[in-house]
Amino acid sequence: MSEEKSHKILFVSLLFVTCALFFLVAVLLWWIPYVGLANIHRALPALLAVFFGTLLLLVVGGIFSIVLTLIFRKDLLLSKRLRGAVIKVIFPVLILVGKLFGISKEKIQHAFVEVNNDIVIAQVSHIRPERLLLLMPHCLQNYDCKVKITGNADNCKRCGLCKIKDLVEMAETYHVGLSVATGGTIARRIVVEKKPRLIIAVACERDLTSGIQDSYPVPVYGIFNIRPYGPCFNTQLDLKKVEKAMLHFLQGGA
Ligand code: SF4
Repeated sequence: MSEEKSHKILFVSLLFVTCALFFLVAVLLWWIPYVGLANIHRALPALLAVFFGTLLLLVVGGIFSIVLTLIFRKDLLLSKRLRGAVIKVIFPVLILVGKLFGISKEKIQHAFVEVNNDIVIAQVSHIRPERLLLLMPHCLQNYDCKVKITGNADNCKRCGLCKIKDLVEMAETYHVGLSVATGGTIARRIVVEKKPRLIIAVACERDLTSGIQDSYPVPVYGIFNIRPYGPCFNTQLDLKKVEKAMLHFLQGGA
């Protein structure tokens, strides 16, 4: 089974466990006051049951919608609001549920980015090049390079010692924006200034997760960096993955 598939299965499994826990809590919350509420008014326990039942239906419907979106990679049911729900509500809950089962945060973050990518693919069909931003981490730059590329990636001398050269050329070829950020604060500023409609970002699990959350509602398609020397030092990326994702959105999913 591919790593990507196992990450998605992990994410969906956590969704179902969360759903079961939610169901348990809902039943308890309904049952505990049941005895007392009946003494106040006979209809109150039934009303409370309807309230929790509706809430449960919404949660189950949301999870069902996520699973369908992952399977068909199409904008189905409630998926317009789905990304927001996954980013703001479901993901933080999944981190907690994962902790209960001893699953590492990084593994869940990895799964989250992949699931988010599928939802972005389902929702964004076509993007104009000037509205697409390639957002890269500073650690891709060769550690010994003295050129300042954070303000303007075009300052790169294109010596070829790191992949910044290829990214600058790629951005030129496809007329898309390219920015290099040293951290979350700068990345947020870049997003505010450039107002992209879609971001293709390269980073580690932690930075991609926070980037996706911070940039919402702007969709972020995340690609994991490669760390042959450990985190944040002379990191690498799979250029083909970046180009493939970019072409997918520029060519309208073709
Ligand atoms: S390709 Fe650009 S950024 Fe990378 S080392 Fe050379 S000059 Fe510096």
